[in-house]
Amino acid sequence: MLLGVHCSVAGGLENAFEEARLKGINTFQIFSRNQRQWKAKPVSDEERRRFSAAFKKSNIKVAFSHCSYLLNLASANDALQQLSVHSLTEEVERCSLLGLSFCVLHPGAAGEQPKEQAIRRIISGLRQVIKNTRKSKVVIALENTAGQGTSVGGTFENLRYIYEEVESKRIGFCLDTCHAFVAGYDIRTEKGVEKTLNSFDKICGLKHLKAFHINDSKGDLGSRLDRHENIGKGKLGLIPFKYIMNHFPHIPKVLETPKEEDGDEINLKVLRNLID
Ligand SMILES: [Zn+2]
Ligand SMILES: [Zn+2]
Repeated sequence: MLLGVHCSVAGGLENAFEEARLKGINTFQIFSRNQRQWKAKPVSDEERRRFSAAFKKSNIKVAFSHCSYLLNLASANDALQQLSVHSLTEEVERCSLLGLSFCVLHPGAAGEQPKEQAIRRIISGLRQVIKNTRKSKVVIALENTAGQGTSVGGTFENLRYIYEEVESKRIGFCLDTCHAFVAGYDIRTEKGVEKTLNSFDKICGLKHLKAFHINDSKGDLGSRLDRHENIGKGKLGLIPFKYIMNHFPHIPKVLETPKEEDGDEINLKVLRNLID
């Protein structure tokens, strides 16, 4: 069972492993850098050594990163788009150095340009990053979004189109349960979650699914509200999580739920109790 949380790297990247140990998890997601700034200090040899030593000693089976929220490969502003390409290139390189197998990326937001044009820019940006990092095996996992505002990636068709056009084995997917629900996929019932995941399989392919973001939702079906809630405490309830836990033990699943008051520990326990 690959299960974990988004771990903090405050005080050093290797600190994620200590949080993972305390929480008894074998999978985690981190921000490999300050996610709210464009500039990132390169990973030093010392940082890399400490990280890989902690990795070896740990029970972690899969570790991956989430890209900066500033990235927008769709941006109609050439400078911003190129900054995003540069930053994603750096992220892939950081993952390679640290032994992280993939990075999760929000495809981008169109802004005032037509969505088709935005998608073209995402595709061209991804092609550049893949080319810039051709020696790397690190996969870029496109995350489905809540479909809020002008964001791209609220539908499985959006994600598949990007995947197909980039034409690289180094593109995969990350499926966020909260985002899927608020974007209009009703996964509250067993039938609903089964139908949604079957449709994801047909359109995107479960074999390309690198991870689940396991989040309950504060927002209602179709609300496009990206607000995560503790497992079983939101509009989703327990059924979709029970389904995912039992059908996809080998796909990494990480929580991105509120951390206050032992949130992670409680959510992990709730999830483990759903295993048949
Ligand atoms: Zn997510
Ligand atoms: Zn979210």
